[in-house]
Amino acid sequence: MKRLPPLFKTATLTLLLGGSSVFVPSSLAQTGGSATLTYTVKAGDTLYRVATERGLKPEDLLRINGLSSATLSVGQTLKLPSGMPAPAPAAAASPTPPNPVTSTSVTPKPVAPAAASAPGSNVIAGVTVRVPARLKMGDGFVLRLSGERAGEAVVSFSSEVGEDVRMPAETLTPIGAAGEYQVLGRVVLGKTTPLVYTVKVGNDVLRGSIPVSGLDQPIQHLTLPKSLTDRLTAPSRPLEEKVVEAAYALRTPQAWSRPFAAPLVTTAVSSSFGQPRTYLTGGPVLYHYGMDFPAPVGTSVRAVNDGRVVIAGTYPVRGGLVAIDHGAGLVSLYFHQSRLLVKAGETVKRGQIIGQVGTTGLSAGPHLHLEMRVRGEATLPTEYFNRLWP
Ligand SMILES: [Zn+2]
Repeated sequence: MKRLPPLFKTATLTLLLGGSSVFVPSSLAQTGGSATLTYTVKAGDTLYRVATERGLKPEDLLRINGLSSATLSVGQTLKLPSGMPAPAPAAAASPTPPNPVTSTSVTPKPVAPAAASAPGSNVIAGVTVRVPARLKMGDGFVLRLSGERAGEAVVSFSSEVGEDVRMPAETLTPIGAAGEYQVLGRVVLGKTTPLVYTVKVGNDVLRGSIPVSGLDQPIQHLTLPKSLTDRLTAPSRPLEEKVVEAAYALRTPQAWSRPFAAPLVTTAVSSSFGQPRTYLTGGPVLYHYGMDFPAPVGTSVRAVNDGRVVIAGTYPVRGGLVAIDHGAGLVSLYFHQSRLLVKAGETVKRGQIIGQVGTTGLSAGPHLHLEMRVRGEATLPTEYFNRLWP
């Protein structure tokens, strides 16, 4: 099993052929002596990743630390089993993907859906629960609740405890009114095990599962010039990751009430979301977390919906970056811009121009890289356009 600690959390490489972006994991620092090993949680860490990089099961790490939730906070100290081998030193130069599809030893296992609902038995305490019949990795989706007590429900996706998710199995409060409520869900890239959801209304609990399929994209093997990959080790990379992780952690009220719109007027779409790739010969397999829209430098970039600008700045990998918090745990990110026309803290409306297309950061051609992150995890952007929910 590979134990190389990842050096980078998120990196974007844009290629000449339509452009593409790649994300690689964050630096993990190992601390602790030989008797009791501990690990200090860094920005972007997930319980899943901390555990699997050490050959542990996420549920064992929870148990050892007496944790009831898989949510980690930066600076938190985790106990590791004594006598276990430490991961390789952080000097290792090759970045490791967050979800290596080539690795079979860290395949996430779903939490057993004890008392999972039989098909059709999706009613709990008078509340009807509707979910998609099937999902693909990287899907955003909506769990719908209807009925008089739908607003009392709390929802969690319990299978996330065994996955590479930032805040697994978070307790989610439905959004809505008048007996019709929604909870935004997502399937992390790399996951093909069933998604398990839990709905609680008062003392009643409903559990169900949804099958998940892969994207069936063959791995692309690419080679990049050093001038681009050098951006991955720029001194301000840790700050870049810290800034986006802070945006992913936001849980503000839903700010939109109209369908989402495309971020620019173009017919050219490089639909490479979720594409697994290697960027170095024999290098790790990495996913593409966004969608690329090739367009000339200077083309207007527009907010996909109402929200608040939480990032507007230039970074080594993402280049000219704007991130908009739409509330409900949904953040849209616009990479590689040549010009930014909004400032952090500003409220924006759907369709408002926020910047211009460019080729800044880790990019080799003018395009917009758009990401739609649900509670920090990447979802397929086109699922949102012209719809109120994905
Ligand atoms: Zn891209």
